[in-house]
Amino acid sequence: MTLCSFERSRQRIAEASRLIPGGVSSHFRFGVSPTPLVIERADGVYLYDADGNRLIDYYLALGPMILGHTPVDVIEAARAQLERGILYGGQSELEFDAARLVCEMVPCAERVRFASSGSEAVQLALRLARATTGRKTVLKFEGHYHGWLDSVLWSVGTPPDDLGPEAQPIPFAGSSGQDPMAGAHVEVLSWNRTEQVVERLARGDVAAVIMEPMMCNSGGILPLPGYLEAVRKACTDSGTVLIFDEVITGFRVGPGGAQQRLGVTPDLAIFAKAIANGFSVAAVAGQARFMDQLAHGGIIHGGTYNAQSIAMAATIATLKRLNTPGVFEMMEERGQRLMTGLSDALKEAGIPATVRGLPQIFSVALGLKTPPVNYRDTLATDRKRYIRLTTAMLERGVRALERGAWFLSTEHDDEIIATTIAAFREALATIRT
Ligand code: PMP
Repeated sequence: MTLCSFERSRQRIAEASRLIPGGVSSHFRFGVSPTPLVIERADGVYLYDADGNRLIDYYLALGPMILGHTPVDVIEAARAQLERGILYGGQSELEFDAARLVCEMVPCAERVRFASSGSEAVQLALRLARATTGRKTVLKFEGHYHGWLDSVLWSVGTPPDDLGPEAQPIPFAGSSGQDPMAGAHVEVLSWNRTEQVVERLARGDVAAVIMEPMMCNSGGILPLPGYLEAVRKACTDSGTVLIFDEVITGFRVGPGGAQQRLGVTPDLAIFAKAIANGFSVAAVAGQARFMDQLAHGGIIHGGTYNAQSIAMAATIATLKRLNTPGVFEMMEERGQRLMTGLSDALKEAGIPATVRGLPQIFSVALGLKTPPVNYRDTLATDRKRYIRLTTAMLERGVRALERGAWFLSTEHDDEIIATTIAAFREALATIRT
């Protein structure tokens, strides 16, 4: 078999670096092995790059493309709207329809406000929580990512030496240039440790607890049985707003997100990514008693591009499809088969690893012998070896994230999954030593 090469991408990235720092427009596209790719077009599960390679895609643009890269219904809805104007600076029936769908599908959603990216929607949820409680402190958890802005980029990828004691993690700034004062009211806890959060909330001075209800950004870890329920109760008892950041899990692990699947309803939730299959849409959804503060509480939420008409048309088409009976069951079955196939291949190769998460978003970690329960446990992952594995897979036409996550779409059919498992087995053979 001829292996894919990526020389043209490498060369164009080097040339583009004279215009765009690093040749990329997001930090998370930078420094990937063997090079950031230059994509020419996409179709279904495939990406076609500048070197003429056809790659089966499990990045899915870091999550959004749940219906694959070219869903006819979404594209047609967007195309039809394009003829009717781009951005109105006013409301539209499209926006109302999209809102109705979110409220029908998501358990916590009595109201919804649209935004343009997950990062800013997070800021709105925190602002609502602080305004309605009159408190300042926000609790977040190690390894949970809530966007790149100063107020939340704390303790996402803390190096082992900077963690501090598990009972009292030291907040760690994720970027140089970050305002240290932006973390003044952020406290960090270790996730999946019930006693920590219950004890802290008992002091009655916390505005919000924010978490990924399934820790997707640091390794596909599910909450331990009873953990979400205990946090929910502690929040209710202490008058703290519980916020689920469902930017990844929303409309991906089920039509109503992780809150529906895991059976615990937050006060507010944040959505983005899969909500519009690649268009710039995010949302904060939640109970009327919080959300309606936006109508009369003096809380500012702005955004020139919020509820942009084409993106709203795409949102409606995406949500309608995801709300069709059978769609999630199909992804569940195929994703499960993929997880089992990868897991079996790893066992046969004698490489200790975990394959964990949910079929629509799971994570592979080499070097872990027992399932991790929080960020600290994931630090034992053999990341260098996994990068060798994803690079070898890419050379065999399969693109998966170097940090372990695999995103599934409705278009990853039986044949694609079989091809993927075969490429994975071949790639594994290259990292035996
Ligand atoms: N929250 C979570 C859980 C995310 O995974 C992300 C993005 N990966 C964000 C927030 C930020 O979203 P965006 O990149 O749209 O700003």
